[in-house]
Amino acid sequence: MGAVMTETPAPPLKLFNSLTRSLEEFVPVHPGEARVYSCGPTVYNYPHIGNMRAYVFADTLGRTLSFKGYKLTHVINITDVGHLTDDADAGEDKLEKAAAEKAQSIWDIARHYTEAYWADVKALNIRQPAHWSIATDYVPQMIEFAKAIADKHCYELASGLYFDTTTVADYGRLARHGTDEGESRIDPVDGKRHAADFAIWRKTPPGETRQMEWDSPWGRGAPGWHLECSVMSEALLGFPFDIHTGGIDHREIHHPNEIAQNQAHSCSDASGARFWMHNNFLVERSGKMSKSAGEFLRLQLLIDKGYHPLAYRLMCLQAHYRSELEFSWEGLGAALTRLKRLRYAAAALECELECYSRQERPISAEILALRSEFDEAMSNDLNTPQALTIVERTFAAKHLERWERADAVADFGEVLGLKFFYDIATLPRVRPKTATITEAEIEAILARRKEARAAKDFVTSDKLRDELIAAGVEVMDGDPLGWDWRLE
Ligand code: AMP
Ligand code: ZN
Repeated sequence: MGAVMTETPAPPLKLFNSLTRSLEEFVPVHPGEARVYSCGPTVYNYPHIGNMRAYVFADTLGRTLSFKGYKLTHVINITDVGHLTDDADAGEDKLEKAAAEKAQSIWDIARHYTEAYWADVKALNIRQPAHWSIATDYVPQMIEFAKAIADKHCYELASGLYFDTTTVADYGRLARHGTDEGESRIDPVDGKRHAADFAIWRKTPPGETRQMEWDSPWGRGAPGWHLECSVMSEALLGFPFDIHTGGIDHREIHHPNEIAQNQAHSCSDASGARFWMHNNFLVERSGKMSKSAGEFLRLQLLIDKGYHPLAYRLMCLQAHYRSELEFSWEGLGAALTRLKRLRYAAAALECELECYSRQERPISAEILALRSEFDEAMSNDLNTPQALTIVERTFAAKHLERWERADAVADFGEVLGLKFFYDIATLPRVRPKTATITEAEIEAILARRKEARAAKDFVTSDKLRDELIAAGVEVMDGDPLGWDWRLE
């Protein structure tokens, strides 16, 4: 991917910082570098497509940082211990619960769902981060961290070691709530001094054995969920680092608690990351997407129904990451159609990419302008909806040289993580699992139908169309994108 070849200086990257609730220019901690930590999945179940929106966002952020010339170090953690069924210290450990329900080893559960998550990551063209940090690999460091803050900031109860949120300045500033407000008021733990106080270490109740437990100065038990991200981000990215990401729910409890721990551990007011960034939710018409409701939307279900996974990525990018996005099958269908159109436009330009090298010819002013508009859009807090329209305008600028349009959209596609130039003919048309008819059969019937129509034999033409409908194939006469059929 090339740097933007503009004569005017590239615009500075501006990102919305949840800490200040404002757009700020990105200035890295280490010149030329960008260090990003993203809260990863809790691997007790499959991720739903809402969870994957968080990683499409983090990946698009990472790609934009690379595009802007920063050397990116991205960490995504895998939470395989500590996350309770309620973010505010209530309920059971999500993984222990899943293991008990399924009568399986917790380690097998974690491995299975981590692999399922990685499959979705790959399908959505999310780049591999520099590190996948697994929480259970860092328990000794978590104990050391807890020991360092225990005396000044924590108190012990029968159930564990708790962080006293009044011991740090301005607790809850990220969520804009204090120690006795906010969602964390839902407080089931006996003896907690303040509603927002949270577990650093959870002791195994007497007489019980957990599948995952470790010895600690506070007894055998498991680390609290918030502790892991403070420990792993510092271990892998240093302190402070540049950007911490997560879904908007994390702005309320998980990230304020990480910040409190970071303040305590660094004996300062430093939050740990310069930018805290949050993607908004993917919602269903009926409300928030949730796994506890039983049936939920997995990427694999979309694929089984014949939607290319990148249609879902495109659907995410059509909305700004800070806006709520409502999922609908019609919306996904529209995104698939748009992806196909982009792919066909790319196919028309494809050979141009191989035929010319960038240096061979001067680039037109118009392409330079489109490139800098794209840069402006992405530099403006990742305005992907606008960036997509610039991609389309570049494809459509038919009066310009094909090679320079091809070159520009290849670069844009790299930033957006949409593979315009790969597997163009086959990929967008994913076969639903249930389809029995082959593509060759469909094409053969359509060819016969074309002949019948040319001969004005509409009885035969309609019969052939009905035959296709019976096989689950919709015939799309006159589709402006050139797609003449699709599998239902
Ligand atoms: P979890 O596996 O529950 O820890 O969540 C993984 C990531 O998905 C976190 O960053 C959450 O904030 C995020 N997330 C959860 N639900 C949604 C949703 N419906 N839309 C977007 N992001 C979500
Ligand atoms: Zn986290």
